[in-house]
Amino acid sequence: MAIKNNVIIAGAGPVGCVAALILSNAGIPVTLLEAEAGLIQDLRASTFHPPSLDMLDELGVTPKLIERGLITPSIQYRDLDDGLVAEFDHALIADETNHPYRLQCEQFKLTRVIHDMLEPFGDTEFRFNARVTGASQTGEGVTVAYSTPDGDEEIFGAYLIGCDGSRSVVRKSQGIEFAGFTYPEQFVTISVPEPVDRIVPDMGHVAYISHPTEWCALIHAPDFWRFLFPIPMEMTREEAFDETYLQDRLHRLAPWDSAYSVNHKTLYGVNQRVAETYRKGRILLAGDAAHVNNPLGGMGMNGGLHDGINLANKLVRIIRGEESDDLLDRYDRQRRPIAVEYVQAQTIRNKKNLEEKDPAVRKRRQDELRAVAEDAGKSREILMQTSMIYGVRKSEAIQ
Ligand SMILES: Cc1cc2nc3c(=O)[nH]c(=O)nc-3n(C[C@H](O)[C@H](O)[C@H](O)COP(=O)(O)OP(=O)(O)OC[C@H]3O[C@@H](n4cnc5c(N)ncnc54)[C@H](O)[C@@H]3O)c2cc1C
Repeated sequence: MAIKNNVIIAGAGPVGCVAALILSNAGIPVTLLEAEAGLIQDLRASTFHPPSLDMLDELGVTPKLIERGLITPSIQYRDLDDGLVAEFDHALIADETNHPYRLQCEQFKLTRVIHDMLEPFGDTEFRFNARVTGASQTGEGVTVAYSTPDGDEEIFGAYLIGCDGSRSVVRKSQGIEFAGFTYPEQFVTISVPEPVDRIVPDMGHVAYISHPTEWCALIHAPDFWRFLFPIPMEMTREEAFDETYLQDRLHRLAPWDSAYSVNHKTLYGVNQRVAETYRKGRILLAGDAAHVNNPLGGMGMNGGLHDGINLANKLVRIIRGEESDDLLDRYDRQRRPIAVEYVQAQTIRNKKNLEEKDPAVRKRRQDELRAVAEDAGKSREILMQTSMIYGVRKSEAIQ
């Protein structure tokens, strides 16, 4: 079969969808192979950072997310025993971004918005129930094997982007190592509809609550409040989701005299891993297929979106004949170190700070945070880091 200048994308998650939108806007034919019967609707990432909103704005996506989301200008650092420690308002970096806030909006809303935007593009196709099983390449193009309810199929393309999540078949098909580690505890997320900011009057809409064993990240998403906290590895799912146990944990974090209505709960293990390369010839990795990290700081999906946007823009230039495909090495050079030195380092640090066990270190950290919050210049530095603006700029500066 003749190979056109088409791109195949494995996985229609946030990263695959955003890459597809950029390629489609440039008139490049795209086929998205998605294992599930439709776009998945799971409660995972819900934080969009300022640089992601700036990038998605150029694609016409951000206003649609804002309609469906909740703007949260401030982030709080709290201590379970001592209450509010410091609060940082993104207004301080309003001269650095068009979106000086975090937008809370579930990731499945992004994929739906982009799916609808792609509807009119005749050369863009979502193939659902299409599970990628392998990939190979020559100097001319790629062959992607996938299974469907009606049997096995193959598709040919100029390039393949593996956006098929942390267990990426595309990554494995190329023998690319995914080195890193798994945390020795499990993470629980619990969503409740009760307005936690009315139950705990000074509670912010994004709050990181430190404690040696009961730390928590609390996020107000549009339709619920979500608590994320650790439990020991040896606890079973049944024990973790026991109603009395859960109510006790939630009441420790946000005490009140009624029961919370737990309307969604997940239990999962967390890894910190980065692929040894993001490029093998015509096969590229982006998003969770390339890197995974703990959810503290909301950097997983955002970093993935930055990959997808960076890579798709480069593929447009290559396919138009404006650049050689050496440009793809620059994708690896720009995005991989940021995952290692910035996202991995920051998320590992975020967890370490939240769970600090030494009371003296915990107290020193609180004093430092209070001092930073009183200094506008230092607060700006913190926000430039946590909002990922520094990471994106550093990546863009790499040749
Ligand atoms: C429980 C949980 C909570 C999380 N919370 C947060 C958070 O609060 N903040 C944050 O930033 N990040 C969070 N993350 C991470 C975030 O969800 C991911 O970083 C983000 O989804 C990555 O997007 P992606 O498109 O790369 O991959 P995914 O969203 O994983 O999408 C991959 C897509 O590929 C499809 N697929 C998989 N295998 C195949 C195959 N073989 N063939 C075809 N299709 C395939 C899948 O069905 C899926 O649609 C969380 C993750 C989990 C698991």
